[in-house]
Amino acid sequence: MNWDRLSASEQRRIQNVKLRRFLTEVIAPFSPYYRKLFAEHKIDPLRIRTIEDLRHLPFTRKADLLPTSEQPEKFREFIIIPDLAVLKRRPQVIAAALWRGRSVVERRFEREFRPIFLTATTGRSSMPVAFAYTDHDMGNLRTAGARLIQTFGATTKMRGVNMFPCAPHLAFWQVVLAGLEYGMLLVSSGGGKIMGTAGNIDLIDKIKPEAIIGIPTFVYHVIREAHAQGRKWPQVIRIVLGGEKSPQGVRRKIVALLQEMGARDVRVCGTYGFTEARLAWGECPPPPGEWSGYHLFPDLGIVEVIDPDTGEVKGEGEPGELVYTPLDARGTVVLRYRTGDYVDGGVTWEPCPYCGRTVPRIIGKIGRASNTKELQFGKLKGTLVNFDNLQQILDDTAEIGEWQLEIRKAHDDPLDVDELILHLAPVNGANIEQLKESIRKRFQTEIELTPNRIEFHSIEDMLKRIKLESSLKEVRILDARPKG
Ligand SMILES: [Zn+2]
Repeated sequence: MNWDRLSASEQRRIQNVKLRRFLTEVIAPFSPYYRKLFAEHKIDPLRIRTIEDLRHLPFTRKADLLPTSEQPEKFREFIIIPDLAVLKRRPQVIAAALWRGRSVVERRFEREFRPIFLTATTGRSSMPVAFAYTDHDMGNLRTAGARLIQTFGATTKMRGVNMFPCAPHLAFWQVVLAGLEYGMLLVSSGGGKIMGTAGNIDLIDKIKPEAIIGIPTFVYHVIREAHAQGRKWPQVIRIVLGGEKSPQGVRRKIVALLQEMGARDVRVCGTYGFTEARLAWGECPPPPGEWSGYHLFPDLGIVEVIDPDTGEVKGEGEPGELVYTPLDARGTVVLRYRTGDYVDGGVTWEPCPYCGRTVPRIIGKIGRASNTKELQFGKLKGTLVNFDNLQQILDDTAEIGEWQLEIRKAHDDPLDVDELILHLAPVNGANIEQLKESIRKRFQTEIELTPNRIEFHSIEDMLKRIKLESSLKEVRILDARPKG
């Protein structure tokens, strides 16, 4: 299918047709959660005919999937469970049973509806939730993977090394299936925990991949180590980052190192995905210092941008919270899922200025509301601190190799004020005093506060502090205050 060159009106038409079919043939009859929800809210799925009508459906939030004391396995309610009696009454099913035989039809139902694969949320802030995939969903995951590779501008002749941590997490498997579907050699190292830094460097030396894929911190770490060892990786032309944000500062540092290792035209592509969407989207290669936006797959799902306070749907290009609805899913299905992710540029249908694709794109920086914490610097009132802003300052500073922000109680006394301690590993040759001074100035101008202390560490100690190899997500913000 010509997924990336359709006009906006043709995309809308396909979305409307698929949404109607999905709600009436899959969700309304077979989703225990939404059947109940539709009844409670008196929603007639037949009356939701277009994308605009979606706003009549209530949102689903992460909290709706978490276990409660009455329902310890709440997530099961979201799994599509077919009613064979309903399926067997459908004309196309009766025809297929007559034509091909019952066992063939039953096998087909199994493939469509039986969960055969799981990924789970990483659960940094709450309990992990499992999302089930059927064979039907694996097909969509593969399709999304092949489209991602096309978006990155890669070809089947290229090779890639996948350094995402091997775990039941979307990022790792999205890459594995992308290679299988597209027909490109992709070697998965399993990340730092499985092969260690040295193992990953040796693997890249051996495979000589054009593309290196992984979480920004680990990719940067491996390239920095390889650079320090004097390795040459002139063939690298794509870096694909995912699993966490990939700020321009980190991208610049990676490209600069690779250039010194002999690479010429390296482009860095960001990706965005989440467990609940069960697929990821990516950027086409933007020129250095720019973003091209996450290129969506309009026939597989709908991304809405809403006002987080009122729930009202925003217009094209307006900022707000991202909300996702799949259009062709089985297994665990959530509709109008509120991601808690805020995007400052909204979604645009303007053709991409870099690749010309006409798919909608998520534009701008994505942040999380939960990255704002209230700190108690004085005895009386709290200060709201947006850690996304701090992260950006630190990632953009060229003299910083690694960093961590620690929040703790002064004198380790739970009743005392909060302290903000910045841990830094400078890059070789950085002037420590100048670095301290410039960081303090930037903190002061951008967020009107400065860290109580700045402590310097070696790169090795910092990597241990942020748990780069032992944890699936790095610990950038360490809240060491006693839990009250
Ligand atoms: Zn593009």
